[in-house]
Amino acid sequence: MFLIRPDPEFDESLESYIIRLAEANRFRVKKLFPHLGKLLQKQHGNLAGAMATELSRFNLYHANISSSKRYWALHLLSELCCKERISLLEMAVLKTSRNFGEKHTALFWKGLDIPRIFFRSEDIPICPQCLKEKPYIPVFWHISLVKACPKHRTLLIYSCPQCGQKTDYIRNGGTSICACGFDLSSTVVKPADSKLIRLAEQIYGFKPGANGQGNLLFRESSTEAVFGAVLWFRQWVEKKSDEELLVNEAFLLRCIEFFDDWPSCLISRLDKLTFEGLEYSERSLKGTSFRSIFGALLKVSRYLPDDQLEKNEVLKTVFSFLDQIVFQNGHPYSEISLTLLDSFEACVVLGVSIRQLARLIEDGLLHPCKQLKDSEEINPATPLFRLKDVFVLWSVAFQSRHSNRNIYLSRW
Ligand SMILES: [Zn+2]
Ligand SMILES: [Zn+2]
Repeated sequence: MFLIRPDPEFDESLESYIIRLAEANRFRVKKLFPHLGKLLQKQHGNLAGAMATELSRFNLYHANISSSKRYWALHLLSELCCKERISLLEMAVLKTSRNFGEKHTALFWKGLDIPRIFFRSEDIPICPQCLKEKPYIPVFWHISLVKACPKHRTLLIYSCPQCGQKTDYIRNGGTSICACGFDLSSTVVKPADSKLIRLAEQIYGFKPGANGQGNLLFRESSTEAVFGAVLWFRQWVEKKSDEELLVNEAFLLRCIEFFDDWPSCLISRLDKLTFEGLEYSERSLKGTSFRSIFGALLKVSRYLPDDQLEKNEVLKTVFSFLDQIVFQNGHPYSEISLTLLDSFEACVVLGVSIRQLARLIEDGLLHPCKQLKDSEEINPATPLFRLKDVFVLWSVAFQSRHSNRNIYLSRW
């Protein structure tokens, strides 16, 4: 069906490739999908309905739970189009069961987990100079933390200078030409802030040497760890709701600045919250919930995206802070160790699931601070477990190779 089959670029989005494939064979993208649907019906009738009817719904992450049909449809299409020279499936963005933080779902693309909240499905910006060199769209432009092109060190462009419409190659059905006919690769660009470039380099997986070692985001870590840290900053430091999808430059610059002085920036914040908690509390902290002082700290610090302390810098710093309070004799904040964790928070400290926690209570290893009636079910959101008890239990019974106290205690 397609006589000319361009080679896909290594970071090219599936939609971008479909557009180029169609263009190379003189198909209009809008006409392509009904045509593909018919073709599929002819060869594999049972799969025909599984094909998306437009480019904007084509990628696999758009499919509902029954996405396996869509998967096979794409597989067959791959053979049909390209005789297996390339697999369209390898280029697809998929759903994954992995979560970030408390409850953020993720997408999966070529070995990379991306929080769904940071993935743009529409209004995709562009780098005009990249388009001039090669007219294709990399998946990285779909990631909202990428504001700058790390190759050309310029800001990405969000709208067409001629008609003012937001750039969106999927809606337009063309990689470089706007719906108004303007060639977007000729747009004048502005230089980008070096911090935004550095962040984009981290996400692209570039290794620009040892610069910026002090900043947590710029250390040698996985791209997922960078996503996790930014998500955590958004949730715990800025307390943004999930409905607010906007990730603008000002937000990212604040975030980068926060992580500049790691971990002191977090420790001083924890110090301040503790001080205020102790200062303004009218009675003893015994019976006060941990979250009334620290908010959702424990819950949003889990899975960033790693559960192992070794790889989760935020959780490691929180544990180190709490460890001193719990174990140091006469610590000025020792009263904090009497605050109460709910079941979800206790699970974070122990690194266990809710079901495992229930077992620990049943076996008498962990005691709720409130008498429960015989058949009473524990509401996981009720603060019931003394921080000190949970932390000590973790220290004596839940140490593991990748999550243990030695990871953050200084070694002599
Ligand atoms: Zn560029
Ligand atoms: Zn335009």
